[in-house]
Amino acid sequence: MSKFDVVVIGSGPAGYVAAIRAAQLGMNVACLEKGINKLGKPNFGGTCLNVGCIPSKALLDTTHKYVEAAHDFDVHGISTKELSIDVAQMIARKDKIVSQLTGGIGQLFKANGVTAIEGAGKVLAGKKVEVTKADGSVETLEAENIVIAAGSLPVEIPPTPIDQDVIVDSTGALEFLEVPKKLGVIGAGVIGLELGSVWGRLGSEVVVLEALEEFLPAIDQQIAKEARKVFTKAQGMDIRLGARVTGSEIKDGQVVVTYTDSEGDKQETFDKLIVAVGRRPQSENLLSGDCGVSMDERGFIFVNDYCETDVPGVYAVGDIVRGPMLAHKGSEEGVMVAERIAGQKAAMNYDCIPNVIYTHPEVAAVGQTEEQLKADGVDYKVGVFPFAASGRALAANDTAGMVKMIADAKTDRILGCHIIGPSAADLVQQVVIAMEFGSSAEDIGLTVFGHPTLSEAVHEAALAVDGHAIHIANKKKR
Ligand code: FAD
Ligand code: AMP
Repeated sequence: MSKFDVVVIGSGPAGYVAAIRAAQLGMNVACLEKGINKLGKPNFGGTCLNVGCIPSKALLDTTHKYVEAAHDFDVHGISTKELSIDVAQMIARKDKIVSQLTGGIGQLFKANGVTAIEGAGKVLAGKKVEVTKADGSVETLEAENIVIAAGSLPVEIPPTPIDQDVIVDSTGALEFLEVPKKLGVIGAGVIGLELGSVWGRLGSEVVVLEALEEFLPAIDQQIAKEARKVFTKAQGMDIRLGARVTGSEIKDGQVVVTYTDSEGDKQETFDKLIVAVGRRPQSENLLSGDCGVSMDERGFIFVNDYCETDVPGVYAVGDIVRGPMLAHKGSEEGVMVAERIAGQKAAMNYDCIPNVIYTHPEVAAVGQTEEQLKADGVDYKVGVFPFAASGRALAANDTAGMVKMIADAKTDRILGCHIIGPSAADLVQQVVIAMEFGSSAEDIGLTVFGHPTLSEAVHEAALAVDGHAIHIANKKKR
């Protein structure tokens, strides 16, 4: 029986990072991956590299360039006659990026001495892992430590069974070979909005059906309001809130969707329908009944703040445990677990995890929203700076949105930052670093920012917290 210091189950951003870090720390590591991707290669990189973060961003970047060329170049005096998009080439480019990155994980495993094993892992009692290979053969590994990183899958709902042709999940929505004339999206979450944007930019008439009455309830509502305005008014997305999908029927290659809103039952016919109603942990056939690791009724594995399960030496990280389903959250958990196995005192700051919606403008946030602080009775102060007042945003003709900084009213410590605007994902990272160092809004205000940059909007929002912004009229004067 092969024996390893660490056996990692799953090679997504949580698993492969845990495996590489553990190997760097001198441990003998195996990383199991059960999936084969559409290119016929092992699914190294998991959801993120194969059917998630990376391919979706590849399509978002292509389609953003298309929109700019179609609608925004003329203001610069650039004319683009007879613009066209080759959708098959766009998809092929995306596949090439996926292939490069997933192949890169294989190389990193080799370079770090991680043993990659293709097969499905199951945790047995006594820290053993049973591996079932594609040919049906079974091998059992012995492990000093096990890291479960089996990730997640799209949620399916009974009214709209996925056929990956007319009714697709997020994976199918990355594969359309022509632009659907009319596209339905169920769910106005991050994935629904990003994938709706991809196809809407190429000309699909996009209708988003969302059961909740509130738009993006988890994000700061001032930012959510702005986002809704931009997506609907400027970009033509038809976002219907309070619209719960209850049924569907395929008719002549189209899908007739039934949904219920405050006025009663309604129907809408689409050429394609993307079901983006969330993700669920991939926990089937993962644990033997007697292995001692427990999970909740939805299949999330129980862990403490250090990602330790109920069994000493068995850890779980990434989408299969509590917390936001984000690649970087899983990766950092992977690093923490590897370092703790090596005897280090690593810990993770769950209060400082950025989240982003990669629409254009991007929506990015870290820390607490105004709504959360109000509910918790925290005394806070707010500074807002609009990109319309940023010289760099104006030069780029990209002025929608704002930076909103929230600080503690007494201590001035930054409690949250919420951005909608160009490069919001990269801008918010500056505040993530500041928060990680316990920074106050004044600390950012006292920092020199290069001019002209979009970052100056972060600086000005921090100054605006105490009424010191230079390039807008401050509501509060100090
Ligand atoms: P996964 O990436 O799901 O990887 C788990 C791996 O384990 C899979 O390869 C699976 O085949 C394998 N596996 C499962 N069970 C077993 C087993 N028993 N034995 C062996 N192998 C097994 N997050 C972001 O942070 N930024 C984004 O921009 C972003 N965009 C996204 C866009 C889309 C369309 C989607 C669907 C997701 C996106 N996400 C994004 C979420 C991100 O992909 C996930 O949070 C991340 O992949 C989770 O990492 P993980 O390692 O926990 O699991
Ligand atoms: P997220 O979990 O952020 O990806 O968002 C998924 C969204 O899908 C949530 O906002 C849900 O309210 C929404 N949703 C789930 N089921 C339905 C349904 N049957 N009809 C419309 N929206 C739904």
